[in-house]
Amino acid sequence: MPRLTPPPVDRAAAARAAVAARRGRAAVKNAVAARTRSALDVAEAAWAGEPTSPEGSLRVRELLTSIPGIGPTRVARIMTELGIAESKRVGGLGVRQRRLLGDWLAAREAKGRLRSRLVVLAGPTAVGKGTVSTYIRENYPDVHLSVSATTRAPRPGEVDGVHYYFVDDAEFDRMIRDRELLEYATVHNSYRYGTPRPPLDAALNEGRSVLLEIDLQGARLVRAAMPEAVLVFLLPPTWDELVRRLIGRGTEDATEQQRRLETAKVELAAQDEFDARVVNHDVAEAAREVVELMTAPEPGRTRA
Ligand code: 5GP
Repeated sequence: MPRLTPPPVDRAAAARAAVAARRGRAAVKNAVAARTRSALDVAEAAWAGEPTSPEGSLRVRELLTSIPGIGPTRVARIMTELGIAESKRVGGLGVRQRRLLGDWLAAREAKGRLRSRLVVLAGPTAVGKGTVSTYIRENYPDVHLSVSATTRAPRPGEVDGVHYYFVDDAEFDRMIRDRELLEYATVHNSYRYGTPRPPLDAALNEGRSVLLEIDLQGARLVRAAMPEAVLVFLLPPTWDELVRRLIGRGTEDATEQQRRLETAKVELAAQDEFDARVVNHDVAEAAREVVELMTAPEPGRTRA
C-alpha cells in the first residue's frame, strides 16, 4: 500500500520550510515598504534566481501592495492592465509579463526619483530646523524653500514673503477654503501655520527640489497627501544639548521653555516614522546631508 500522508518527521520539516519561506517573503515585503529595497530590484532578483526563492515565490499582488503609496484597488487595476492573473507569483511570470512588469516598475521608479525632490524637515523644538533651512536658502540657491503662511506676528528682522507670509485669521480661513494649503496646523497651541500649495507645485513642475520646514503634525499631513515626499527628522546631538539650545536662545520664558521641552520629548518619540534622520552636530554638515537626500535615488532614502 502506498503511503498517502508523509511520515510525521517530513510533515514537521515541511512545516518548518513553509514558515521559513513565509518569513523570507515577509522580509522582502518589509524592505520594499520601508524603501530600503526597490520593487524592481526584487523582481530582477526573482527572475535571476530560483522560482522558490523569497523573491520568486512572492505573489505579484503582494509585491505591488508593499510599494508605499499604492493601495489594493490600484494594485488590482495595474494587474489587469498588465494582464497578470491575481494568483501569479513573480518567479512564475512568462517572458512577456516579465517585460511588462519590469518596464512598469522602472517607469514608476524614475517618476519617484523625480518626485522625491520634495523633502520635509521636521524635528523637536530648538533642534535648529530654522538655522539649517536658512543655511540651505543661503548656500543652495537651486533648492526652493517653501514659505509658510502664519497668523503669528512678525518678529524683528522677519520679512513678509521671505520668512513667512504673515496673514490674519480671515485670510488663513480663505486659504483653507480655497484649498490653497497642502497642510496646516495650530502649532504650540497658539498660531496657525500652513504650506501654500501653488508655489510648491510650480517649483516641482520646474524640476526644482523643494524643502518644507514644518512641525510634526504638518509632516504627518504631508505624508498622507504626498506619500512620495521624503520625511527627514533633525536630531540634537544629545538631550542636554537640546535643553541648552532652548534655554540659551532666550526667546521663551521659563514656563514656555518647560512646555516646549515636554513637547520635544513627545516629538523625539516620533522619529521612527521618518524616512531619514540627520543629527545636527554642525549646521553646514546637517544642511549638506538634507540636500543630499533630495537627490538620492529611491533606496538611498534611509540613512538613519
Ligand atoms: P516659529 O513661530 O518659531 O517660526 O515656528 C514655530 C513652529 O511652526 C516650528 O516648529 C515650525 O517648524 C512650524 N511651522 C512653520 N511653518 C509651518 C507650516 O507651514 N506648517 C506646519 N505644520 N508647521 C509649520
